[in-house]
Amino acid sequence: MDIILLGPPGAGKGTQASRLEDEHGMLQLSTGDMLRAAVKAETPVGLKAKSLMEAGELVPDEVVSGIIGDKLDELGPDQGVIFDGYPRTAAQAVSLDEILAARGRKLDRVIELEVDEEALVERITGRFTCGKCGEGYHDKFKQPAKDGICDVCGSEEFKRRPDDTEETVRTRMQEYRAKTAPILPIYEERQLVSKVDGMGSMQAVSDAIEAVLALD
Ligand code: ADP
Repeated sequence: MDIILLGPPGAGKGTQASRLEDEHGMLQLSTGDMLRAAVKAETPVGLKAKSLMEAGELVPDEVVSGIIGDKLDELGPDQGVIFDGYPRTAAQAVSLDEILAARGRKLDRVIELEVDEEALVERITGRFTCGKCGEGYHDKFKQPAKDGICDVCGSEEFKRRPDDTEETVRTRMQEYRAKTAPILPIYEERQLVSKVDGMGSMQAVSDAIEAVLALD
């Protein structure tokens, strides 16, 4: 099964994708994570993406479609994937259809996480992760049990994404509204979209996704 998780920045796509990975053996393909890795490794893609990402703007369509195609080529035909943060424009949605068809795959479902935008700004600007194991935390909603020490691995190093500042988050939201939200009708017409309330607890959201996918 190949699915898309769609929703604005901070809607919880990454969190829900990791759950689907852990519980159902699907593979999360996050263009954001792949681009961050490219930036860190200073690859040609990373060098192109860095300043755009820091400003909250989108990376060119052909760059992200290229990395998604390459990644799918590494996978077996039975490995289900969750697209997280891709497609983000109408052009990317068209590319995804071509990329999937060329590999004998097809899109099974698009899950739209519906969320309140103001709450998202608070979610994003307060979030941080363990620098070692990647566990996610939040200034207000999920502090480590012992101040400054990761609950999972005991590390004392934490990091924040450079694009998680209020100003950049506002730009990212604007990009979502202008370029990404308009692709929903394309999938609605194909009857692929299921809407899930993204404002509940992590468990409630994940239960709702499971129900949609009937994976239980
Ligand atoms: P979020 O959904 O929280 O904004 P992501 O980690 O998905 O964060 O993406 C971070 C940044 O990476 C985006 O603001 C954009 O610059 C770039 N990016 C990620 N995916 C895409 C994509 N499909 N198309 C263009 N740019 C992308």
